Amino acid sequence: MQDASDPLVAARLFHDALPMRIREYLNHRGIRDAVIDTHLLGWDGRRITIPIFDRDGRVAFFKRAKDPDDDTPGPKMLTPAGCSAELYGWERLRGEPPRIVICEGEFDRLVLEGHGLAAVTATGGAGVFRREWAATFASVPEVFICFDRDEAGRHGAVRVGQLIPHGKIVELPAEVGDGGDITDFFVRLGRTSEDFEELLASAEPAPAPDEPSPDHAIPKRNGRSRDRIERIKRDVSIVDVARQYVASLRGTDRVLTGRCPFHDDHVPSLAIYADRGGFHCYGCGAHGDVIDFVMRVEHLTFPQALDTLDALRLNHGRTAQGDR
Ligand SMILES: [Zn+2]
Repeated sequence: MQDASDPLVAARLFHDALPMRIREYLNHRGIRDAVIDTHLLGWDGRRITIPIFDRDGRVAFFKRAKDPDDDTPGPKMLTPAGCSAELYGWERLRGEPPRIVICEGEFDRLVLEGHGLAAVTATGGAGVFRREWAATFASVPEVFICFDRDEAGRHGAVRVGQLIPHGKIVELPAEVGDGGDITDFFVRLGRTSEDFEELLASAEPAPAPDEPSPDHAIPKRNGRSRDRIERIKRDVSIVDVARQYVASLRGTDRVLTGRCPFHDDHVPSLAIYADRGGFHCYGCGAHGDVIDFVMRVEHLTFPQALDTLDALRLNHGRTAQGDR
């Protein structure tokens, strides 16, 4: 006996009821059959149903898109009242993809999936990306953020980029028009996966949030001091330093995660960015470079941290060059 009050059963029933004209409409807007079937898009008799799965793989709720043949006024997309925003695409994150695109809108996500790209979106629009989701992206080596070409999209993308420091912002070309989105790019402009790859290749990190950087905290120093800092950052690997304090550190050669030494961390919230020489904790917000890390973890002043790291740097140099 099928219990239609079970949302997963309902999702399957809706999917079975998907009329051919709606399937064709979805195809025309760039959502392929395989994607429609995998993601159980359906029809409740009035609207297109999109089951949204939560972090544990259960159907949390349905988004409902307007019937394309319904020309009465009304919202294009409905979210049930009282539902908090979800991340649409948790299953992608569970699969530990080498890269992922965070986009704006369920249909845009499905268009990207149809082009073979792992993609997720917040169900609440450009401005709703929850801080606690960000940590999940720490272990994805390449994170791209591609929102609509409008003010809300730009704003939202920068915000997500600041929550996920290794995320890069992808800008859709001017040809998509004001408010243009990923669907416009692929469907209206007829662009290809290769074209999208070019956009990804030119993606840029989000501008840093307005917080005083450690360099500004130092009173204007002479060139020697600045050179010394640069030498330390260049020669001392933040991964080697962090390993001494974070036993659980693991990941790729670019991004490693582990339990944060700066707060009572039950999940690995700390990300170490080997290539940029930085760290960021998604739990407590601790953030900075190798010098900040040593200052915090050893409770040192800035000059003391420099001395400590200089000693490490010279030791390293000796090991690397062998005994001379
Ligand atoms: Zn922390």
